[in-house]
Amino acid sequence: MHIVIVGAGINGLVAANYLLRAGCRVTIIERAARVGGACVSATAQIDGVQHHYAHGASVLGLMQDFVFQETGLSARVRTYAPTHPKLIHFPGLDAPVWIWREPERLDREFEEKFGERGDAVAFRADEERVVDFLRQGYRDARPPTLADAEAALGTELARRWITGSARALLEHYFTSEGARVYMAMTVTESGPVSLSEPYSAFIIPMMDSGSVFGSYYGFVREGIWQIPIELDRINRELGADVRLGCLVKEIDTRAHQVSFEEDGKPMRIGYDHLVMATDTVTAARLAGTPDLARRTNEQRLLGSAGKVTLLFSKPVRWKHGSAQSDSDSAFRFVFSESSLSGFEAAANRVAQGTPYSPGYMQIYCEGAAMRQLGLHEPFDRLSVFFNFLALDRTGADWPEVKAHVRQTVLALTSNPEDCVWSKLLTPRDLQETFLFPGGNLDHTMLVAGQTYFDRGFSSDPLRHFYRLGDDERVHVCGAGTYPCGSVAGTPGYMCAKQLLRVSA
Ligand SMILES: Cc1cc2nc3c(=O)[nH]c(=O)nc-3n(C[C@H](O)[C@H](O)[C@H](O)COP(=O)(O)OP(=O)(O)OC[C@H]3O[C@@H](n4cnc5c(N)ncnc54)[C@H](O)[C@@H]3O)c2cc1C
Repeated sequence: MHIVIVGAGINGLVAANYLLRAGCRVTIIERAARVGGACVSATAQIDGVQHHYAHGASVLGLMQDFVFQETGLSARVRTYAPTHPKLIHFPGLDAPVWIWREPERLDREFEEKFGERGDAVAFRADEERVVDFLRQGYRDARPPTLADAEAALGTELARRWITGSARALLEHYFTSEGARVYMAMTVTESGPVSLSEPYSAFIIPMMDSGSVFGSYYGFVREGIWQIPIELDRINRELGADVRLGCLVKEIDTRAHQVSFEEDGKPMRIGYDHLVMATDTVTAARLAGTPDLARRTNEQRLLGSAGKVTLLFSKPVRWKHGSAQSDSDSAFRFVFSESSLSGFEAAANRVAQGTPYSPGYMQIYCEGAAMRQLGLHEPFDRLSVFFNFLALDRTGADWPEVKAHVRQTVLALTSNPEDCVWSKLLTPRDLQETFLFPGGNLDHTMLVAGQTYFDRGFSSDPLRHFYRLGDDERVHVCGAGTYPCGSVAGTPGYMCAKQLLRVSA
């Protein structure tokens, strides 16, 4: 079979890898001059020295370990995940809260810092059951239905963790506002989802369902962009025909032909199966019916996450941490709100038109992680993801937001004078640079009506979830499809498996 894949982001590359190893002939067509999509590097020039940093994605975590192994990636890239507890700065608390991996220790920490009387042990145990259920679905390339979830987990857990609201979930396990706010953070990572919305609970186990680091997040030597670079090399060794700098302009689903431009010349290529590994709006516009394109465009897609990259001439010295050798690479989070309602209101303000409403910042210490991986670079680097930002302007036009993020982060260090360079990306930049509809990191907001049980691009989701509409030969697996965005490649893997299954 000849498979044409449009888009050489992580999902197109993972799909290509599985299809090539199954014996298919694969052509990948990518509009950019390099592979990676939203997982690429950029270069800063500081005093004549060039320094690479993560332009889009920074941390690895949602990938399934079997994808990492089976694609051949594990033999080509080196990774590191900090084991030091995360350090959380809360308004009104002088010392950071330590997020221990062991639930019993976390319970004690929450009790000491927040007066918590709930049960992190039960929370983690129940979450693990949901995560196991999700991971089994990934492995089997079988997106879950609500009936599957109820059969595997029972109706009560399925209601609490899947169809229920994040607020109800957190109020069930925790008594303090601090513990609830910390646990609520992931719900709003992609867009300003209300914590009271049905299905918002589901985002929590989803975001913990990666297995490459056992639900945790970590780093790749040099940078996460090495993942698509290496996967592209592996795919070419397996025989992939990769066409870079080729914008796909039209798809004729009757004649099974893709039209694109190569070196300024119009080209056409035929396919047995077509895999659209772009964002879902582009996939539906180019290869779907007008009705599917309209419905896809009408989904709630608003994003609210920004990213500031900071480069330092000397290693960052943190005011808080421990004597452990990996303390500098620990994840650090700064919250602006200490109550669930305050947090929710900050998220909602952006949806209602406030341009910037600080909620939290996630600080990834990329340079320190590189040192753990034996790589000593000329500059230290931090990636700071933060919420909540509106879609109305680019980072270059928003110096006051960048200044606020910089000040907040630098106040946690004892060498702020060493910060020599910084750059802000806003949801508008995500939309313009990476073609993310609505500037949304995961290309969707996981809420009622557009969670996976309800939403699909296929007219036959039970048999072939990744089919686009009712065309047996067109498939879609970009980040807006189940399970979601991230440098994971899970939709690419599941789509390839389903394609092979139904075409056998
Ligand atoms: C700023 C930022 C930070 C992020 N941080 C993280 C993080 O730390 N960790 C994490 O796991 N994830 C992160 N993400 C999310 C993650 O990067 C994405 O979810 C993931 O890379 C998407 O992969 P994809 O293959 O589905 O799509 P993409 O990477 O968007 O790839 C789609 C490809 O299709 C191509 N394409 C589109 N239209 C056409 C066309 N007409 N013709 C030809 N080619 C076309 C595009 O050029 C692109 O290369 C971040 C994203 C951004 C933007």
